[in-house]
Amino acid sequence: MSEPIVPSTYSPTLYPQSIAVRHGQVRTAEGEHNDPLFLSSSFVFESAAQAAARFVHDEPGNVYSRFTNPTVRTFEQRLAAVEGAPYCVAMGSGMAAILSVCLALLQHGDHVVVSRNVFGSTANLFTKIMARFGVDATFVDLVDLDSWAAAIGPRTRFLFLETPSNPLGEVGDIRALAHLAHQHKCRLVVDNVLCTPALQRPIALGADVVVHSATKYLDGQGRCVGGAVVTQDEEVSKALVGVMRTAGPSLSPFNAWVFLNGLETLSLRMQAHSAGGLELAGWLQEHPSVEQVFYGGLANHPQHALAATQQEAFGGIVTFTIKGRQQAAWSVVDSSRLLSITANFGDAKSTITHPATTTHGRLSAQERAQAGVTENMLRLSVGLEHVNDIKADLERGLSQVQPRKAARIA
Ligand SMILES: *Cc1c(COP(=O)(O)O)cnc(C)c1O
Repeated sequence: MSEPIVPSTYSPTLYPQSIAVRHGQVRTAEGEHNDPLFLSSSFVFESAAQAAARFVHDEPGNVYSRFTNPTVRTFEQRLAAVEGAPYCVAMGSGMAAILSVCLALLQHGDHVVVSRNVFGSTANLFTKIMARFGVDATFVDLVDLDSWAAAIGPRTRFLFLETPSNPLGEVGDIRALAHLAHQHKCRLVVDNVLCTPALQRPIALGADVVVHSATKYLDGQGRCVGGAVVTQDEEVSKALVGVMRTAGPSLSPFNAWVFLNGLETLSLRMQAHSAGGLELAGWLQEHPSVEQVFYGGLANHPQHALAATQQEAFGGIVTFTIKGRQQAAWSVVDSSRLLSITANFGDAKSTITHPATTTHGRLSAQERAQAGVTENMLRLSVGLEHVNDIKADLERGLSQVQPRKAARIA
């Protein structure tokens, strides 16, 4: 069923930044400098014989954009190369990517182990949808290796984690979990949305499969929804191409073209998001209205040392709690004029979110507590504005939480 995969011509002689700008471009006879956009649902053949050959895959080439489109293919090859893996299948969204991994690797009666603090829809995919198809999921503490080991059983097919986690920034040990998975003949699937390959390359640490929501940092400017699965495992890749061809969770060529342009600046943007994140985390930590800051780049973060070994920098998501209750947290949100009030992240525009009443609002109070999300918690996605402007915007709300004593007039 699945079509032959052409491995990307990943060249280890180029630095990842150069690969992200150059790799995989197909230049047409027009000599265009930017990547061409092939906005075409189908492709024509030179003869009946060629059409027949393309359909049975004797001959590689374009057929129909559900499963073969040149712009989507360039995005796949470039992202695979940046992740340091031979195969990538682009998907219509991050959730389509995770669903496709399930469809490719699981059947009725199988079991998966998933870290507890995954993206809300990912948790729901396992508990509400995959469960209906006879797949069991056990949720474990991301940072507790013993609980991962204890959850693995004879029908376990893969371990799934997101690191760093959102919103708390806990860090999972990719190398140790890959080793554990392989000891039990399972695969390790890593959601690399928060770091992107510019900061973390899970394949090099032993992961078998990496999933992406391209909607976040790969785009980086909040324009398009998309996703991808990257793998070093040919069997997984073939199964994914089969899912793509038959079930059709395809990426639009237009969105692929936007993501290609996004990849060109990914490394620079992630460095800037990380520099802003580190500075704001340090500033918040010293702020009298702030109770606690959750950011892997801070020396007092419980997995700081691990984060420093498996990531190149600590990213743009900074979560903190304030000395107050929900009302005070909301007033920090409502006092902002620059920060966008939205649950999205990974944009050039900084955003502020109150997780307890938005991203985690549908959870029961007990589930929320288990996820570590409290009513006085705020999540910042640090964008590309000047960090001083972000500080000034936050200060307006934070100074009301616990007004500093006015200087006494002698
Ligand atoms: C947004 C997100 C997803 C889902 O991606 P969509 O493109 O919105 O479908 C998956 N995982 C993480 C960590 C995300 O942030």
